[in-house]
Amino acid sequence: MPVDHKDAAHDRPLAPWAMAPPRTTGSRTTNEEVRQQNLSTVLRLVHVEGSLSRSHIGTETGLNRSTVTALVTELLELGVVRETQTAPTGRVGRPSLGVAAEGDVVALSIVAEPDAVTVALVGLDGSIHSRVRHDLASAPSPRKFAQITASLVDGMRADIERHYRLVGAGLVVPGLVDPTGTVLFAPPLGWKREAISARLENALGVRVAAGNNASIGAMAEARFGIGRGTDNLLYLTGSRHGIGGGLIFDGTLLRGTSGFAGELGHTVVVPRGAKCACGRRGCLEAEVNPARILELLGRRKLDEDELDIELGVVRDSAVAAELARQVDVLSVALTNFVNAFAPETVVLSGYLGVLLETSRERLSQAVRVDPVGADNRAIRLERARMRSRLMQIAPAELAFAPLLADPAGLAPTLARPR
Ligand SMILES: [Zn+2]
Repeated sequence: MPVDHKDAAHDRPLAPWAMAPPRTTGSRTTNEEVRQQNLSTVLRLVHVEGSLSRSHIGTETGLNRSTVTALVTELLELGVVRETQTAPTGRVGRPSLGVAAEGDVVALSIVAEPDAVTVALVGLDGSIHSRVRHDLASAPSPRKFAQITASLVDGMRADIERHYRLVGAGLVVPGLVDPTGTVLFAPPLGWKREAISARLENALGVRVAAGNNASIGAMAEARFGIGRGTDNLLYLTGSRHGIGGGLIFDGTLLRGTSGFAGELGHTVVVPRGAKCACGRRGCLEAEVNPARILELLGRRKLDEDELDIELGVVRDSAVAAELARQVDVLSVALTNFVNAFAPETVVLSGYLGVLLETSRERLSQAVRVDPVGADNRAIRLERARMRSRLMQIAPAELAFAPLLADPAGLAPTLARPR
């Protein structure tokens, strides 16, 4: 929390992670630590909120005017923020200078999927400078994946060296990833116990932070998307490869033992139901899966926009019946999750977002259930807002995290453009 409070009450809640966690060594916080913390708080704020005037930064953080001015000056010198002309002032004819995160400070965003590797160059201001996708006929081995990624990054290297300051790379994987960057198990890719961060660091020559796709999706949705301003968010994303979940509690991603929390796809919802890849029967991800619907529709690819339209008006009775069955099963699961975790907001992404679009009424009923003792608590049920764009900028957040936590410590180490 910022230390220099002039007013403890804020106009509105900050997005999760807008604030740095309090850091103390021993019992006292030194001035130097306070300054570091405040630099981090201001940088996080403009990173999440976009361009803000200095007075707005003061209101949001509770820091006084001269402190904000000093902090912004230091962040400008570090090259991690820039001045903008566009900060809204509300006063006609008096444009004030705004402060925004520097888009030329960049991270590589890498998404590993069974049918593609995607690399994007993402700015600290959320801009996507470039993006390349390499389609695959089958899931890549870790070695092949590292080779493909390295060649995609090589194609960007001259541009990066000429124009940008690279912080590192963030990788998201459809599977369980431990804090050291080892993929414990990624069934869609067929990877097991694979030290993917270390392998990619060797191939790319930059620091690589890795995470689970649903956890990173939950984090990005809470930071930049539909969940902004919520402290407790449940995120579920579905594809033909399964269902992943991410839980944000009190503004922090719930990791659980070895990062296993949020693996909600293997919640058993239909006893003696369909066989799941995990060996059990009736798991949520085996029962609520686009594969069956796509087969009935005679489609091979899951395209959210096309499915929205096609499932919006279903004429085929077999499709309608399967859709209704899956929505019923998802409703049961949502009711259980809402009772177990008491989120403020439930965000559905991917295929589950399509189901929400087609059956909003039915699924809303599922989360309207009042947990025992709670009087009529409203839980927001939303479709992920950022969709494909989110999965491009979300991995970069992993790479930006150390810079956001300690701008003064890290920014001077970044190479300047040539
Ligand atoms: Zn399972």
